[in-house]
Amino acid sequence: MMRRKSREIRLGSLRVGGDAPIMVQSMTNTDTRDVDATVAQIGRLVQRGCEAVRLAVPDEAAARALRAIREASPVPLIADIHFDYRLAIAALEAGLEGLRINPGNIGPREHVDAVVDAAKAHGAVIRVGVNSGSVEKSLLQKYGGPCPQAMVESALNHVRMLEARGFYDTKISLKSSSVLDSLEAYRLLAASCDYPLHIGITEAGGLLRGTVKSAVGLGILLHEGIGDTLRVSLTADPAEEVTVAYEILRALGLRRRGPEIISCPTCGRTEIDLFALARAVEERLAGSTADIKVAVMGCVVNGPGEAREADLGLAGGRDKGIIFRKGNVIRTVRGQDALLAAFMEELQLLLKEKESA
Ligand code: SF4
Repeated sequence: MMRRKSREIRLGSLRVGGDAPIMVQSMTNTDTRDVDATVAQIGRLVQRGCEAVRLAVPDEAAARALRAIREASPVPLIADIHFDYRLAIAALEAGLEGLRINPGNIGPREHVDAVVDAAKAHGAVIRVGVNSGSVEKSLLQKYGGPCPQAMVESALNHVRMLEARGFYDTKISLKSSSVLDSLEAYRLLAASCDYPLHIGITEAGGLLRGTVKSAVGLGILLHEGIGDTLRVSLTADPAEEVTVAYEILRALGLRRRGPEIISCPTCGRTEIDLFALARAVEERLAGSTADIKVAVMGCVVNGPGEAREADLGLAGGRDKGIIFRKGNVIRTVRGQDALLAAFMEELQLLLKEKESA
């Protein structure tokens, strides 16, 4: 995989683009005016590995809450602003490290200029976010609809407004709910500039559909070397977005975070309640940052192969199950309940060792 060469910019203390790790972002879905709820959700996102969080700032009351949220957040924050340029300036004054704007809906050029000048003065990053619904009328007429070419031209026109003020700390996103349009748009954009790109499939859907669409769309782009930051959009708890983002990056060998869990799909040879066992392991490891590989397999025929490869592995059988630690058999246990208890005991031990290492 050859990563596209992009300009490196800084979101607070974080490097974005260049050869920096591909950054995982998410967005809160709490009412930004509710400082406690928003800070608590940021905390949950960060616990899952989220590295920057975007917040909607729909009105002045939300803007007033930003200073307290900024003070409590351990990661850089990005204000999502539409229509009112004064909210963007308020967010910068509150210390937020980034803005996500669509200059096309901020109003007259002098308002855009005021936002860009303020971002420059505060050392903040601006993400120009274009989606298929926000393409200007003139481009819709020129191209006959919000096609990938229209989205790219819209984004580059907006970026030129920032460049005209001497501003280059820009990221760009082009979002469509169509995977194929997103691919085409990002490929075109990637070839047209060297700004870091934030990738995502917008309005992707619930946990299952959204995960599949995002994995396909973002997976293809990342494999082509496109994408410096990413967000998986799900109609679900935003913490799930972070977990899915890391699984996509892990599948491509781009980043690792937290445990890798391997479980077989079960078949006619399965002799234990593997679903319950796998669920118990997933629940125990939810939110864990331990770099371990755990395998739960349903039989003693094909299971031991995978189980042996893991830090902790189980090959379950009706009469007896085998527990492996780093390739060695450490326990042979009779009975499903005893097997689950023994495996969870060993998992606990492994996690403790990793914590104290
Ligand atoms: Fe079936 Fe065993 Fe393979 Fe699981 S590991 S799918 S139980 S053969």
